[in-house]
Amino acid sequence: MKKKEDFSTWLNDIIDRAGILDIRYPIKGTYVWRPYGFKVRANVLRILRGLLDETGHEEVLFPLLIPEEEFMKEAIHVKGFEDEVYWVTHGGLTPLNVKLALRPTSETAIYPMFALWIRSHADMPIKVYQVVNVFRYETKATRPLIRLREITTFKEAHTAHATPEDAERQVEEALSIYKRFFDTLGIPYVVSKRPDWDKFPGADYTIAFDTVLPDGRSLQIGTVHNLGTNFSKTFDILFENTQGEQEHAYQTCYGISDRVIASHIAIHGDDKGLSLMPEIAPVQCVIVPIIFKGREEAVLRAVEKAEKALKGLRVHVDRGEGTPGSKFYHWEMKGVPLRIEIGPRDAEKDTAVLVRRDTGEKKTVPLGDLSGSAAAALREMEASMRKKAEDELKAMITEAATLEEAARILREKGGIIRTVWCGEKECGVEIEEVLNAKLLGTNNESASGPCIHCGGKGRHILHISRSY
Ligand SMILES: [Zn+2]
Repeated sequence: MKKKEDFSTWLNDIIDRAGILDIRYPIKGTYVWRPYGFKVRANVLRILRGLLDETGHEEVLFPLLIPEEEFMKEAIHVKGFEDEVYWVTHGGLTPLNVKLALRPTSETAIYPMFALWIRSHADMPIKVYQVVNVFRYETKATRPLIRLREITTFKEAHTAHATPEDAERQVEEALSIYKRFFDTLGIPYVVSKRPDWDKFPGADYTIAFDTVLPDGRSLQIGTVHNLGTNFSKTFDILFENTQGEQEHAYQTCYGISDRVIASHIAIHGDDKGLSLMPEIAPVQCVIVPIIFKGREEAVLRAVEKAEKALKGLRVHVDRGEGTPGSKFYHWEMKGVPLRIEIGPRDAEKDTAVLVRRDTGEKKTVPLGDLSGSAAAALREMEASMRKKAEDELKAMITEAATLEEAARILREKGGIIRTVWCGEKECGVEIEEVLNAKLLGTNNESASGPCIHCGGKGRHILHISRSY
């Protein structure tokens, strides 16, 4: 199971063997969260909910079904999703008068309600989010956690504002929340404003987070959209402004999906299995007693002492049958950050051996200091896992001055190309065709020099990659 040699097989294998998902469910593109995976997911969501709640967002839950009439109202939005919608057409044996869409995303479920909730500028801002499953009839090859027909972990936030400035400020807040979220999970990212032809259907503009997976392809892991008044005009979200006039609300929305978990697994895992950051690991420390006949008691006493010292962390003592070696193998596969080994000699000397999952580094510490030593080791791990992932991404961002150079880099190494672009659609589309790659978009740095393709005046720094 080599991550570097066959990333795709490695990822599926690890998701299965570590107990994240069962990928045998008999509907293409849908998978089962198993207990261990569900705990990882719950920990990821706890961090995300925390960040949203502390910035004044409120959690809500809208119905899964959207009436056809509402769904079809926003023409551009509909066009963007028409190939992907699942429709409910029958109630039992009776054909429904109104077809119902399984939400592919919830703008058209939420905004008709916003129209009822919002009367005056004083009703805003509204900042709500929900964590739900959404359905998309993917025609491309589906992949666990990456390309799904049922996205099971879709966190979508929706906001409404009384001024365009406040909506703009909300976009900034969303970007900063997502940055903190990805930083916490040790997932490095590149932020790009998507080209106009690739923005969210119905948005004024889209800003996206992309990371790079070990096979050199980029993966979109989060998006933030400024919707302007496009949807509020469609759904009549009107309010009385401070001058007493009716005005359309200014809106934003932003989303995160299962892909966050996919990228954490992909970026930090290795040939031994998962390697989870302590923040999201269902088990942060596993204690493995190393028992020798006739000396069980002393070891088990030391193990109890260790367990007590680690109260406050998520600790598991592996008292099961099996050799220490097979237990090490098992918990390494599960990505448990810290292993604590206690054998007869440790018990005698009142010590324990700490082993870090990320580096394999071993350290003997006094049992009396175990609590402090374990906490310090977990903190160091978080920092070094984050740093390693950031360095790896940096190494995958390469400057290119010509299309030939860009093509060579994409072929040999992949990752993200950084270059200069004129900003013209025609030129951008040609770049995509020539390189068989995607324009991730532009950043907000200023650019100088000629456009990589047409040689015209460079206006933007452009990111290009082959992507999922
Ligand atoms: Zn150009």
